[in-house]
Amino acid sequence: MNRNSENSGSNRGYIVLWDRVFIAAAIFLIIIIGVISLIVFLASGDSESNNKNVEKQIIGSSFKNNSSEPEVEEDVDRTLNCTVVIDAGHGGEDGGCTDYYETRLEKDDNLAMALEVADRLEELGIDVILTRNDDTFIGLQERCDIANEANADLFISLHRNSAFDGSGVEIWVSNKEPAEDTLLAQNIMDAFAEVGVSNNRGVCYGYIGDQYSNYYVNSVTEMPSCLVEMGFITEEIDNELFDKNFYEYADAIAQAIYKSAEELNVLY
Ligand SMILES: [Zn+2]
Repeated sequence: MNRNSENSGSNRGYIVLWDRVFIAAAIFLIIIIGVISLIVFLASGDSESNNKNVEKQIIGSSFKNNSSEPEVEEDVDRTLNCTVVIDAGHGGEDGGCTDYYETRLEKDDNLAMALEVADRLEELGIDVILTRNDDTFIGLQERCDIANEANADLFISLHRNSAFDGSGVEIWVSNKEPAEDTLLAQNIMDAFAEVGVSNNRGVCYGYIGDQYSNYYVNSVTEMPSCLVEMGFITEEIDNELFDKNFYEYADAIAQAIYKSAEELNVLY
């Protein structure tokens, strides 16, 4: 009985020992499974974050295509290789014409529109040179020099008109009536008319009151050019239209310039 008891005690010792081995093995296995699970989890996490990064890049790239960030515009600019000079008439000590109350200066309207048109053209992938981008006086010869030295493709001078009586938009071209300049002017005139003008005064040749003279910028620039009179600053209705349709006019001018560049084969 004792022996048996010893024997059985000895058997119990083996059982306890094996139990410990099993427990140790089980713990070891649990640790191994835990480590493997952790590695798998981390690996899948990495792959998810990689996927997210790819997604971000894709979203980022599609966003970039639709954005107006300068670096994207530069990419487009290199493709089109078309340069347009936008000339904001007057500036600095030369205020241009003014309304009857002398509170509104032509130079300010011209600059505001020039900056807006320039932004839109750049969005369309066209290189723009502004003869002035602030309230600075620039001589007429210097404006022409800027365009000629840059070998620009098109030149558009922006102005407001004035008169005791008169309203509407008109666009001036050299009295030599060059076809390319006329096409540019007509496209801009049509675009203005589509937005809405008080009076479509059309494309005019020469200089106001003197068909044998020319506006300096139309005469001296070496590329197709025109001088846009964006309504009469002396006429209330034209000022209201200019303010109300400001962004539509800017769009219209930019689109008309782009269309002209296409038609004149300078958009390449
Ligand atoms: Zn002017």
